[in-house]
Amino acid sequence: MIDLRELYQETIFDHYRKPRNYGRLDGANRRAEGYNPLCGDKVVLYLRVENGVILDVRFEGSGCAIATASASLLTENIKGRSEEEALQLMDGFIGMVTGVATTGELGKLEVLAGVREFPQRVKCATLAWHTMKAALKNADEPVTTE
Ligand code: ZN
Repeated sequence: MIDLRELYQETIFDHYRKPRNYGRLDGANRRAEGYNPLCGDKVVLYLRVENGVILDVRFEGSGCAIATASASLLTENIKGRSEEEALQLMDGFIGMVTGVATTGELGKLEVLAGVREFPQRVKCATLAWHTMKAALKNADEPVTTE
């Protein structure tokens, strides 16, 4: 078992204090909301997808350090990827935090690997990814920003 000091390592706190790509996305054509009632985490994810490529992504919401850092890391890691690549990354990430897969291909996302030791935190870490999948399914539905 690792302890909480290791789980809440500096990279996670950095993304919690200064979330990357935070705020509404003008020109988004996909949007989804996610909620984790176990912890009270909320996330709204905005995507701009063209020709199967995620050109831009931003998020809003409020959540614990794990949920916020995970959403922030997600935005950094899916921008510029194809929808298929993003969904593969999601499978890898969920495999990592649920402990069914070994790490090695996830780059910076591996800072959240310690979550697997805290089952009550897994839903915090996966919330943004499930929300991303919902947003990708929300094919071409226009989103108004007002
Ligand atoms: Zn949480």
